[in-house]
Amino acid sequence: MAGLYLHVPFCKKACHYCDFHFTQSLKQIDEMVDALCLELEMQSEFLGKDSIYTIYFGGGTPSLLEHQHLKKIMKVIQYEYDLASNIEITLEANPDDLSPERLEAFYSNGINRLSIGIQSFHNENLEWMNRQHTGDEAIEAVLNARQAGFENISIDLIYAVPAVDHSIWEADLKQAIRLRPEHISSYCLTIEPRTAFGKWLEKGRIQEIDEDFAAEQFEILLDTMYRHGYDQYEISNFAQPGYESRHNSAYWKDEKYLGIGPSAHSYNGKFRKANVANNAKYLKGMEEGKIPFEVITLSREDQINEYILTSLRTKWGCSLDLLKEKYGVDLLMEHRDYLNKISLQDLIYEDERHLILTDSGKLLADKLASDLFIEAEE
Ligand code: SF4
Repeated sequence: MAGLYLHVPFCKKACHYCDFHFTQSLKQIDEMVDALCLELEMQSEFLGKDSIYTIYFGGGTPSLLEHQHLKKIMKVIQYEYDLASNIEITLEANPDDLSPERLEAFYSNGINRLSIGIQSFHNENLEWMNRQHTGDEAIEAVLNARQAGFENISIDLIYAVPAVDHSIWEADLKQAIRLRPEHISSYCLTIEPRTAFGKWLEKGRIQEIDEDFAAEQFEILLDTMYRHGYDQYEISNFAQPGYESRHNSAYWKDEKYLGIGPSAHSYNGKFRKANVANNAKYLKGMEEGKIPFEVITLSREDQINEYILTSLRTKWGCSLDLLKEKYGVDLLMEHRDYLNKISLQDLIYEDERHLILTDSGKLLADKLASDLFIEAEE
């Protein structure tokens, strides 16, 4: 089983926190769709004989795609790839794009899961982050999606937005729960250097995110999700039973995936590659019939450490047997004293040969994972 990812690198507006690859000029959207279709044809052997069980339109803003764009792309996919009968096809969407007509176009093209970038229902926060939509539009988008027949909806929320107290975050969560999405992804606001917030930080216009404030909001999030029946299957991802995102899980479980479009990454079990993160270079390459990509070489230690980092973020945890069988690493032996220490501190536990973080451990996930990294042999 494998996954397919398509990167749609266009946005109407640049959100102040975002450092993904996109352009605000929509001029080349038709050309880009043709290039994606061509790359889909050229890459049809990349995943071998594996069936595709998840397709994910990410970006950028894939909800900018029109009916005829999706129709073209889906036709190529259906022709070139072996699709599982119960395939999950997700499209990332911004609320302001989700009119009943456009939702109908998505639905009729086989999209069966929407991931809606809401981030907050609070208009001041939305404006501060330079989002294109209002809180009311976000609510309407989810209601419209239900009306159009979508039975699998995910929403994204951002926490740790600076505020005097937690009341806005609590109200955001309350509103989210009222909508009963099947899945909620919630990320801590981060300030990346190449973004508007990054520049504001440099100029002293904003402060670094307060870690204690963020940790408190994360705890409010965990508590709310738990009380309303959402399972935290990854640190930032919560699902009603049976609604974990297949796309996300494929990455964490080391499954094969093919990424199409500028900046998309691929992995076929043997090697990884990354397409150029530049629309003009990507389009030029495709015009010449050559996919502009570079192979990413990960050392054995990089692969092990990447597995430790991603698996510890999930509820399934880090498999000691996988590390032993695939890489010959005995993590318990390597870090015996440290593991004893953090298990006594109630940050981690072992269950059926898996290391799993406790709720307190999840707050320190990246630090704990990096302390468990394997060092390259001299
Ligand atoms: S957050 Fe989404 S909509 Fe905003 S700039 Fe980034 S990719 Fe575009």
